Amino acid sequence: MAISVVGHANPDTDSVTSAIALAALLNGQGQEAKAYMQIAEADLNPESTTVLKRFGLKAPEFLNDAAGKEIALVDFSDLAQGPAGLDSAKVVAVVDHHKIGDVTTNSPILFRAEPVGCTGTVLNKMFKEAGVAIPKDVAGGMLSAILSDTVNFKSPTCTEDDKVAVAGLKVIAGVEDTDELFMQMLKAKSAVDGVPAKDLLFRDYKDFDMNGKKIGVGQLELASLDQIAACREDLVKAVKEVKADGRHTVLLMLTDVVKEGTDLVVISDDVALIEKAFGCKLVDGSMWIDGMMSRKKQTVPNLQDVFGC
Ligand code: MG
Ligand code: MG
Ligand code: MG
Repeated sequence: MAISVVGHANPDTDSVTSAIALAALLNGQGQEAKAYMQIAEADLNPESTTVLKRFGLKAPEFLNDAAGKEIALVDFSDLAQGPAGLDSAKVVAVVDHHKIGDVTTNSPILFRAEPVGCTGTVLNKMFKEAGVAIPKDVAGGMLSAILSDTVNFKSPTCTEDDKVAVAGLKVIAGVEDTDELFMQMLKAKSAVDGVPAKDLLFRDYKDFDMNGKKIGVGQLELASLDQIAACREDLVKAVKEVKADGRHTVLLMLTDVVKEGTDLVVISDDVALIEKAFGCKLVDGSMWIDGMMSRKKQTVPNLQDVFGC
């Protein structure tokens, strides 16, 4: 049976290109494997669509039921992030760079997780170890994923291994200027024209339970805050509406990845507590926090501290 390789739900560039890359690696080792994703091509995010087009990669097919299949997981190992039927599929491999999730197996499998910035970085090592050449188009996808996941090396999740992988992959992919590639992806990802404010808020949004209080944090990564100047009022209105729907606090991180900082929009029952969390004062409902790039590493921990979690 051919192995179906699939990344997490609501796929990002890493989970799409890593499915393509692991399928290619398995093929290179003589195993039948095919890349899938958990959505239809038409629903793929603008950044990943741009990457696939630039490197001439075919979008993975839609996998909506994993039951009875042999499955390899990339960029996740949580059942909740998998396709329907994953609990009755046979998981044969996991390649990831997140905390270990709750997927279990009955027999030993290939399990490879490393604390690096991107699954693409782990796969780059696996190609080398296997002595399998990375196809040019696949290298382009892996390269893009590393730049995206590490925010062009600026995220605190970025490691030396990610930089080494990029140095090798850019040569194979024929990309001279990785900054230019990153900006192309960023422009696609941060295009806001014609997108309703609430959709922008929910594009990359997570709710957290902090000591019984519901806290929402959305993030928009932008090439410049000018991109959202015209729709900023609508965005704040959307944040207020989501806050009014049973939440203690909603934050929207407007992250300027060029200036390396975040304009943090705050709507909260306890503004003073949020100011304390970040050691900053609100001016007109937001605060600029220099160096803030990562929700996972910089925003959520500060909130957990002041909420006593
Ligand atoms: Mg991912
Ligand atoms: Mg990833
Ligand atoms: Mg991400």
